[in-house]
Amino acid sequence: MVEVKNIALLGSTGSIGTQTLDVIAEYPHLFRAHTLTAGRRWELLASQARKFRPERVVIADESLYEQLKEALADLPVKVEAGAAAIAECVKDAELDMVLTAMVGYSGLAPTIEAIKAGKTIALANKETLVVGGQLISQLLENSSSCIIPVDSEHSAIFQCLVGESEREAEKIILTASGGPFRKLTPTQLENVTVKDALRHPNWDMGAKVTIDSASMMNKGFEMIEAHWLFDCPSEKIEVVVHPQSIVHSMVEFTDGSIKAQLGVPDMHLPIRYALGYPRRLPSGQPSLRLEQYAELTFERPDLRKFPLLRFAFDAISLGGTMPCILNAANEIAVAAFLDERIRFVEMPYIVENTMNRVAFSKDVDYAALVATNEEARRVASQIVSSL
Ligand code: MG
Repeated sequence: MVEVKNIALLGSTGSIGTQTLDVIAEYPHLFRAHTLTAGRRWELLASQARKFRPERVVIADESLYEQLKEALADLPVKVEAGAAAIAECVKDAELDMVLTAMVGYSGLAPTIEAIKAGKTIALANKETLVVGGQLISQLLENSSSCIIPVDSEHSAIFQCLVGESEREAEKIILTASGGPFRKLTPTQLENVTVKDALRHPNWDMGAKVTIDSASMMNKGFEMIEAHWLFDCPSEKIEVVVHPQSIVHSMVEFTDGSIKAQLGVPDMHLPIRYALGYPRRLPSGQPSLRLEQYAELTFERPDLRKFPLLRFAFDAISLGGTMPCILNAANEIAVAAFLDERIRFVEMPYIVENTMNRVAFSKDVDYAALVATNEEARRVASQIVSSL
């Protein structure tokens, strides 16, 4: 008999979170939503708790605790609040897996705690490895924990590497859709609006990652993520624009052979793989019909038009806390763009100047990351106000 996996879903109300609950509902004999956490959306969290009957729910914003507690008063569920409670809940002895789908830097602390507790991690929060990749890698060496990637590209690379020796992998080829602005001239790019940037051609995602896709910062983050996940130097990671988003990524091996993973652009697929690993779960979803795609194309990214992708390569080669600075500056820049306080093309300016101004160190411990994150956010906010 197969045992039910108890899952803590961090960020249950976001795009990945709700799609993960779809998958859990698809296989109730395999998975149980044991713990659900959310940032601010307490009403959705309450209705999820009503449907999935978890042991525990945690809301990050402590001011929303009373409302949530009240809404769930008739259910036998533990209700907690605050970032510290989220970092604590991943240690629960009943948990088999922690899926981290919260947005941004906030994913780092609970991931560290889950590794220390030896939990299997399904990683959907890319900022965790961007900011703390070095620290996370060190922690994993001394832990029984392991990371299964949920991001579609990293799931693809992971799947290409199953049964292979990582030493025989020569190159990672990371595919990018190129986002909604792939064909715009630099002049046209000057005038794009928030609405334009939120219209992603292939993937349905949260606002932050959709903006990052439009600026190609997302692909830079994914390169850094791949570097840490697969212990691969950045020189051996190539970004290729593939607008149809059917090939989710590839690995080239020492003999010149290339393996690719293909599928429809639907996050339920990599979520299903991460939850079911090492098994593949049968699914009733419509499969990919290659004949419906007239062509699959590949081209080089334009680094002059999308400098944030280049900054990611700079940040990882400088190492230390520089990727943390890159991430913090980008979080501030994206928030300012979404608030319509800055233009799309001003985001790289903010990130580059923050990287130049904030002191970075080669040593990375948790305290250094926290301090650097705060300082970089302060400097980036100052640059935003000066524009
Ligand atoms: Mg991705």
